[in-house]
Amino acid sequence: METKHLIAKGKTGKKQAINEAAALLAKGEIVAIPTETVYGLGANARDEAAVDKIFKAKGRPNDNPLIVHVASKEQLFSLVRSFPTYVTKLIDSFSPGPITYVLESSGKVASNVTAGLSTVGLRIPNNEIALMLLEQTNLPIAAPSANISGKPSPTTAQHVLEDLDGKIAAVLDGGPANVGVESTVVDCTEETPVILRLGKITANDIKQVVGKVKLATNIKESTQTPKSPGMKYKHYAPEVPLILVQENNKLQEIIDEEVQKGYRVGVLASSPNGTELRADQIIILGNDEEEMAAKLYHALRSFKQNEVDIVVCESFSRKGVGKAVMDRIERAANRII
Ligand code: AMP
Ligand code: MG
Repeated sequence: METKHLIAKGKTGKKQAINEAAALLAKGEIVAIPTETVYGLGANARDEAAVDKIFKAKGRPNDNPLIVHVASKEQLFSLVRSFPTYVTKLIDSFSPGPITYVLESSGKVASNVTAGLSTVGLRIPNNEIALMLLEQTNLPIAAPSANISGKPSPTTAQHVLEDLDGKIAAVLDGGPANVGVESTVVDCTEETPVILRLGKITANDIKQVVGKVKLATNIKESTQTPKSPGMKYKHYAPEVPLILVQENNKLQEIIDEEVQKGYRVGVLASSPNGTELRADQIIILGNDEEEMAAKLYHALRSFKQNEVDIVVCESFSRKGVGKAVMDRIERAANRII
């Protein structure tokens, strides 16, 4: 299959690209779409056969449910049963935005979207092109990240093509994603909201609106049966193994140890720390948490097998979205020392 690269740029270009993407989705094809978090791989959430193509293209395990993207609050409510009153407050405060609500499903999406669960994950993305596309199709669009399962999520159309060229009908190119890490996933089926996956919307943000919030007890563990099934899988990993260093004053020592073993070493660091280190390849993510989140996945994809053998990564600030960044790095890491 030839994958179309639809560039949504300029007034007429945008409209044309969106029309074409919408037509493909309506026909049951799968199309990668830009969102503010990462690129999603979209399919009509009501069409079981279309949704199945997502699992096949990504190599995604069938027990990992997909997030359904909608254009409006009204469309979101049409897909759920009853819910606690705080849900409306959360939606009014944070949507459109990088947050997914897990709610009791009204059964209007295909069963493979929810991996047979009674709940459905719903999100209104805060991206102009995604919203125009959702309005145009007038369909709920199931869309996990548009990468091969296990790899870093895509933050540009180029990343999508690296992984999925020839396997999907099209990529709708809306430029780079500006948040850079996946949405916060919140279980809203109980009296207290529970964070299942960390993202830009923090526990504190949610607490300020609802008054209470919990972090899923298994958010760090990868072997139990988690409430958010996706979190048990290995994620976000670069092509080469990654060592996360907890004490940043030991970074150079650990780099040198790997060099002595004969390895070519890549480093992921913040500025200004990174400028003082010596290694074969150094990628500096920046110095504020938002900039680091936006650059993280591109950096992880930049370490190539033919250039470095191992990546040594600094521990970054956990302030704001930094906590989600560190969560993703911990999941990508082969070793934490
Ligand atoms: P991705 O689409 O790759 O960003 O991953 C979506 C995340 O949302 C995964 O961790 C899923 O397990 C989680 N998720 C989606 N739908 C549900 C649901 N109904 N219940 C719990 N977690 C969900
Ligand atoms: Mg994903």
